[in-house]
Amino acid sequence: MYVTATHINYYHICKRKLWLFGNGINMEQTSDLVAEGRLVHETSYPNRAARYEEVKIGGSVIDFYDPREKVVHEIKKSSSKEEAHIWQVKYYLYLFEKEGIEDVVGILEYPLLRETLRVELEEDDRESLRKMEDEIRKIIGSETCPSVVSKRKCGKCSYYEFCYSGEEE
Ligand code: SF4
Repeated sequence: MYVTATHINYYHICKRKLWLFGNGINMEQTSDLVAEGRLVHETSYPNRAARYEEVKIGGSVIDFYDPREKVVHEIKKSSSKEEAHIWQVKYYLYLFEKEGIEDVVGILEYPLLRETLRVELEEDDRESLRKMEDEIRKIIGSETCPSVVSKRKCGKCSYYEFCYSGEEE
């Protein structure tokens, strides 16, 4: 199977989410939070689609790539910066490198925070990403769905109803 940047992102958020997504149980289409994210995407940078290219690489889709400057732009509607976002973008850079396109950098953009974060692929990252790919394949291939993580972390997850629907109020 192709490991994608979405798998890398979910790997850092929750192993259960990764397993569910990897095994074809997808709630993203129906989630209000995802729709809200899309809205932030579209309203923050309305002219973006005309300026940058969409790139499909190794099973991943990059919405905004600037081929002239060799910059991947990744927009997050989140109000906090997360490790998962950084590794997702590092994975894009790694995929470019595997295709022979080197020295691509990433810019994570947080319109709600009005902040950006530059992301580069560093020496040890390649090995870390290779290990993540192996672990992701192992987790998704497992017959057992991992347990839920702490409920505090689950509130904004698109799988929330799925994971907690059997619980008493
Ligand atoms: S609701 Fe929580 S346990 Fe379930 S997939 Fe999402 S983050 Fe993981």
